[in-house]
Amino acid sequence: MSTTRRAILLGSAGLATAVAIPGVQYAAWSMKDFTRDGYNPGLPPAPDGEVAWSNWSGIQQSTPKQIAVPATEDELATAITGAQRVRPVGSGHSFTGLVPSEHLIVDASRFSGLVSSDAATGIVTIGAGTRIRQAARELDAAGLALQNLPDVDVQTLAGSFSTSTHGTGRTLQPLHAHVEGFRLVTASGDVRDVTAASDPALFSAGRVSLGALGVITQYTLKCVPAYNLKRRVWVDTLDNIMDQAMALSEQHRNFEFYYFPFTGMAAGISHDMFEGEVSGRVSDEDEDTLSGLKDLRDIFGWAPWLRRRIAAGSLPHGVVEESSDAYWKLLSTARPTKFNEMEYHIPLENGLTCLRAIIGALESRKDTFFPMEVRITAPDDAWLSPFNDGPRMSIATHAAVDEPYDYFFSVLEPIHRAHGGRPHWGKLHSLGKDELMGLYPDYQTFLDLRATLDPDGKFLNSHLAHLFGEDFDA
Ligand SMILES: Cc1cc2nc3c(=O)[nH]c(=O)nc-3n(C[C@H](O)[C@H](O)[C@H](O)COP(=O)(O)OP(=O)(O)OC[C@H]3O[C@@H](n4cnc5c(N)ncnc54)[C@H](O)[C@@H]3O)c2cc1C
Repeated sequence: MSTTRRAILLGSAGLATAVAIPGVQYAAWSMKDFTRDGYNPGLPPAPDGEVAWSNWSGIQQSTPKQIAVPATEDELATAITGAQRVRPVGSGHSFTGLVPSEHLIVDASRFSGLVSSDAATGIVTIGAGTRIRQAARELDAAGLALQNLPDVDVQTLAGSFSTSTHGTGRTLQPLHAHVEGFRLVTASGDVRDVTAASDPALFSAGRVSLGALGVITQYTLKCVPAYNLKRRVWVDTLDNIMDQAMALSEQHRNFEFYYFPFTGMAAGISHDMFEGEVSGRVSDEDEDTLSGLKDLRDIFGWAPWLRRRIAAGSLPHGVVEESSDAYWKLLSTARPTKFNEMEYHIPLENGLTCLRAIIGALESRKDTFFPMEVRITAPDDAWLSPFNDGPRMSIATHAAVDEPYDYFFSVLEPIHRAHGGRPHWGKLHSLGKDELMGLYPDYQTFLDLRATLDPDGKFLNSHLAHLFGEDFDA
């Protein structure tokens, strides 16, 4: 059986007629321009001899002299050794300034595809530039699967591992935790095959490397047999979902929830292993929900009490979707509406307290409407993994791509930090070396290893120099 979640739509076009709107307040609010200063959706102008690069959301931009797409490790090594500075790029889905370079950006997408697989052991070798969605499909054809997936699957394996990209699941680790080995081309052009046995330090550093140690061309991964999941989506009050969140995260393989700001309502999503005939995935209506929430903000944002009342009456209660399918058809969805995002990973025991404080702070601003996402991830042991000291609850806040996000830093980040949060490396944060040293016991060890591998700082840019406390001259 599959039930659509069409009922989750707010139908806000009709909402305006549902209440009598006090003219003056509505008129003042409806004239409001929500666009952030300086918003420019275009690529930066590239002078002659340079090319324009931008991340997915457009807030990271640069004009490198070249974006190289080498086909072999020899070509890659030549490009690296011939450049003054280099930054590796995946699919450009990080919000932080990990990739921008005015020199050389290296795109590893030609190191792509499944090289070998062993269905008996689950061990595969696969190109580091393979997009997650391609990896999932090729593994499926070999009877294998990745253990978990993030919200979208367009990232490359190297890009997602390098920032500790995660999905959700109390027993499920971040994606890089299943790396058994990798092949790294260093600043000197050397090619290193790294495993826990061959080089334990580099293995601990290189699974989450921020692209600071060199360019990875290939991974050895531990996969699991291909599997199907049953998906369930339901809408309830935020209070109910928060009260049950810990129990739900233990009952279900994957559990997460979204909070719809200014509504008091949340959507829970669970996935569990499923055997039998699958129903197929129902069509994805997240975008309609999002535009409904935006309309609600645009029309009723001036009166939070009214916004909440209308949303509570418009949103459905109870189960809005049940479907079953291959894991890779359910866990990741498309995100056509662009946004900017901050996500902090909070020690599990502080997670819900932090979430309450974040919601309070977010709702002190009438202009926010994007759903917040809450997930849980199991620990692993990479030196720069935010999850390396125990399970954490990830709290993600989004702002529409053309709207302000300065309050992420001024209002939300101090709350995350006060609750012991570590930032997602690929999502907006302001931390530098001093703060990160206090958060990661192995930070200095990572920095020392990086300096040994790359003594001239070839793989630095201004963002990495800030993270590592290095002087930087572009
Ligand atoms: C719409 C959207 C949804 C997202 N959903 C999630 C989610 O559910 N969970 C989550 O945890 N994150 C999520 N993210 C964040 C995203 O997964 C990370 O930022 C990830 O790093 C992006 O991967 P990428 O391939 O785009 O890499 P990029 O952003 O291009 O690069 C990321 C890092 O990897 C390095 N790198 C890339 N290729 C190589 C290589 N071959 N060798 C060495 N280093 C390399 C880069 O230098 C950089 O430091 C999301 C982002 C967006 C925009």
